[in-house]
Amino acid sequence: MNQAGGEISILGGGLAGSLCALLMARRGFAVDVYEFRADMRRETIPAGRSINLALAARGIEPLKRAGVFDRVEPMLIPMRGRMLHDHDGTTQLLPYGQRADEVVYSVTRGGLNALLMNAAEAAGARFHFRQRCVACDFESSRLIMRDESSAAEYRLPLQTVIAADGGGSVVRRALSAQLGHQASEQLLDHGYKELTIPAAADGGHRMEKHALHIWPRGEFMLIALPNPDSTFTVTLFLPNTGTPGFASLTDEAALLDFFGQTFPDTLDLIPGLTQEFFANPTGELGTVRCSPWHYRDQALLIGDAAHAVVPFHGQGMNCAFEDCAVLDDLVASHGKNWEEIFSRLTASRKPNADAIADMALENYVEMRDTVRDPGFQLRKELAFELERRLPDRFIPRYSMVMFHAEIPYSQALQRGRVQLELLRSLTATATTLAEIDMDEAERRAREKLSPLG
Ligand SMILES: Cc1cc2nc3c(=O)[nH]c(=O)nc-3n(C[C@H](O)[C@H](O)[C@H](O)COP(=O)(O)OP(=O)(O)OC[C@H]3O[C@@H](n4cnc5c(N)ncnc54)[C@H](O)[C@@H]3O)c2cc1C
Repeated sequence: MNQAGGEISILGGGLAGSLCALLMARRGFAVDVYEFRADMRRETIPAGRSINLALAARGIEPLKRAGVFDRVEPMLIPMRGRMLHDHDGTTQLLPYGQRADEVVYSVTRGGLNALLMNAAEAAGARFHFRQRCVACDFESSRLIMRDESSAAEYRLPLQTVIAADGGGSVVRRALSAQLGHQASEQLLDHGYKELTIPAAADGGHRMEKHALHIWPRGEFMLIALPNPDSTFTVTLFLPNTGTPGFASLTDEAALLDFFGQTFPDTLDLIPGLTQEFFANPTGELGTVRCSPWHYRDQALLIGDAAHAVVPFHGQGMNCAFEDCAVLDDLVASHGKNWEEIFSRLTASRKPNADAIADMALENYVEMRDTVRDPGFQLRKELAFELERRLPDRFIPRYSMVMFHAEIPYSQALQRGRVQLELLRSLTATATTLAEIDMDEAERRAREKLSPLG
């Protein structure tokens, strides 16, 4: 194992670390990646966080820039909207956007991560597996590493270190503990559990393939994303305590009763429910905020290490990929002036990371509850109509986040608030679109919203 450290040391070979390694290697840097898990391309890694993910425009752009999107594309399953599953088994598709290309893609985390690692290695980056960063010491400017195979400890220079070590980042905690950088980790009082809908007997998908399925139930929900092998990965989001809650589902009878009462149509779809529920871990969800994301030219946080968000907007990875693209741009314009690069990255990304953190929390309420409200569906119809009339001013917030990589998250949040107020006021006394004076709606939208771009 190479202990000298390269020109750039990246901690974590997850999605952000691997894409960052690829982009930096393509810029000609010597890149070493230290990943504490075994090589996922050679060994089966135990179930981790989310088997599949939603990939959208902000994540696609950086993959194109890195020259790998043509290889990622065949792995993608387009999802055109949310398929709502009511309690009585009826379903309704709510399209995400109104243009044919306004879709979100389901992608397998392991497949995408492995592809990025292969591409990064082909570009010259070196991956060192089972190497854990156990501490980060700013006083002596050293990272303390442990080889998990031999338990031997060694040190790496704390110089141009990019910490992509996820939500529990050792580097972020050291920045906060040793240098007083501001940091907060807020756990949600809801957790999640992954389950599986197997393929149908004929080898096809057992539900509509091109949709993200949701069983919204007010305080909690179940969702399912399609996989290329015709299975669906199902995720139950539920409070940790109380009833219903993970703590109260302690035996098979309680579990089957809960599913039978709440998601009756899924009992046949998830034959391995009991086995998977009790075998799979219950995952934690939370929001990480910190500032600044760097220290001098020594260390920079990217991805979840800097800004883990709850998964309800499907943007954590997309946002992490955007970080990598911004870093790549800054390297193009500032060469090896790392302190300048790191500080500019913090300045440009922090407001956007805060904005998507807020929008992701708001989206949980939308997905599990508001989506069922007829008022929500009318506001969505009106938003699409205003977008058709004023495409340069009014774009629904969900579309700004998912389909418009050119609009920063912070702008989507700010414009989204103005738009929501307008939509609420225009629909206050209406139950259908036909009851709304569209010329007046257009006039008010022009008055409140400046042109984009
Ligand atoms: C249930 C769920 C569903 C999600 N769905 C979506 C979605 O649909 N769309 C989306 O965009 N995002 C989604 N996300 C968010 C997404 O998973 C993360 O934003 C993304 O994985 C961030 O990538 P990362 O590389 O920053 O961190 P991680 O993926 O956490 O990778 C960190 C890497 O660092 C390694 N590591 C950690 N500590 C150390 C150490 N001390 N030393 C060395 N290596 C270390 C880890 O082994 C790991 O490989 C979801 C998250 C969850 C939990």
